[in-house]
Amino acid sequence: MKTIQEPARDIPIVDDVDVLVLGGGPAGMHAAIAAARRGATTCLVERYGFMGGMATAAFVGPILGLHHHFSGKRILGGTPYEMLRQMAGLGGAILDHPERYVPFDPEVLKVVADQMIVEAGVRLRLHCFAANAVTSQKRIDAVIVESKSGRQAIKAKVYVDATGDGDIAAAAGATHEVGRKQDGALQPFTLCFRLGGVDFSKVRERRGLRDGWVAPGIRPLLQEAVDAGLLPRFGGPWIMHGSTVRETEAFVNMVRLWGDATDVETLTRNEVTGRDHMMQFVRFLRENVGWLRDAYVIDSGTQIGVRETRRFVGEYVLTEEDIVSGHPFADSVAMGGHIIDIHSPDGTTGQRRDMIGAYQIPYRCLLPQGVDNLLIAGRPISATHEAHSSLRVMGTRMAIGQAAGVGAALAGAGDGVPRHVNGEKVRAVLEEMGAVTA
Ligand SMILES: Cc1cc2nc3c(=O)[nH]c(=O)nc-3n(C[C@H](O)[C@H](O)[C@H](O)COP(=O)(O)OP(=O)(O)OC[C@H]3O[C@@H](n4cnc5c(N)ncnc54)[C@H](O)[C@@H]3O)c2cc1C
Repeated sequence: MKTIQEPARDIPIVDDVDVLVLGGGPAGMHAAIAAARRGATTCLVERYGFMGGMATAAFVGPILGLHHHFSGKRILGGTPYEMLRQMAGLGGAILDHPERYVPFDPEVLKVVADQMIVEAGVRLRLHCFAANAVTSQKRIDAVIVESKSGRQAIKAKVYVDATGDGDIAAAAGATHEVGRKQDGALQPFTLCFRLGGVDFSKVRERRGLRDGWVAPGIRPLLQEAVDAGLLPRFGGPWIMHGSTVRETEAFVNMVRLWGDATDVETLTRNEVTGRDHMMQFVRFLRENVGWLRDAYVIDSGTQIGVRETRRFVGEYVLTEEDIVSGHPFADSVAMGGHIIDIHSPDGTTGQRRDMIGAYQIPYRCLLPQGVDNLLIAGRPISATHEAHSSLRVMGTRMAIGQAAGVGAALAGAGDGVPRHVNGEKVRAVLEEMGAVTA
């Protein structure tokens, strides 16, 4: 490939804080709130004009991880639970759903996130893309951000990468892996969308279902059309109250495309193909499923949903066996409660495995190898491909974000190295804040 050389130039330093959080998704929002509440001067940089990540930008739902999948034990506390309760108070989330997940309204999430971030005193920078890390001797000195204001630098003592893809951690040289062990293949993309003109109450009456998850009856119809070459491959389909709480609306998760979301050409292709597949599926559903006859597309995600990209190798790598056996950790800082749930990297089915109970996530999984003043929050924490498939749900990501925020604040008050902060101390502070760690 041909290259050009970028001339060196001076970049203005627009902020200098204790903690800089990159990305305002489920993990980043709570990392920033927790760090600020612990007294750290905190800046949050987000590429979109709102927070929420996949929950708002990709219409992913419902929120899983508030409860353990089977026992119903609540495993999420502290700032994430506070956020969900505020959303429920505004009619934007259902916390007592019989299926133990949380259908929600992304617009309410955006507003509650704004309020909590501002009230915590976080210095927020929206429409700001974290583009690169300036490093020396295994430390990040500054992060370069790009926006309408041009190229700027932000300095911090401690950095939290919550970009979902670990963009800055990768740029800084943190050790990472991609995909499943045998071939590096990744879980698929899904463009999620919402349908109006749906009457869930009728569906429930007819099928005796507690929920709007009516998809199993539709799958054979779709498969027949795929086999006949009339439709593209699909996942699920999950047609339910996920990213909506309204009786006449359904959230749909069925588009299925493959590739690496850190490659912009793949991303572009999948966005365009995803919308085309969405329209093909909607046409088919309207023509073949009685209760969807009047359905219409309200909207699709601002971006296609990305399940998996990089995973950073940390001081501990969480495994499927840790999750399934509920292995206890002295430095547990968050709990997970979702099953092992791998959407096939090369097919349209999935691989699922239940665990005994809720499981613990150690602080060490947030500490990447190779960079000293960095924590990873959210999707790319240190775990195997299999363990990641359980950890990736949004409630669990919020809990991990909160833990990263506390670890960052404690490190910021010391030598700036999160690895030097005792994980049991992080756990104790989190418990004071109402987090659930066991
Ligand atoms: C199709 C699909 C279905 C899913 N189903 C469910 C489900 O039913 N329930 C559930 O709980 N979870 C589900 N998940 C998983 C869940 O949505 C994600 O794993 C979770 O959102 C990860 O949270 P995060 O904060 O780590 O990352 P993200 O949600 O990806 O947030 C990252 C944030 O960082 C920002 N960002 C990224 N790069 C940069 C940059 N360079 N500079 C500045 N900002 C940046 C993004 O805009 C975003 O706001 C699903 C995921 C997908 C894709």
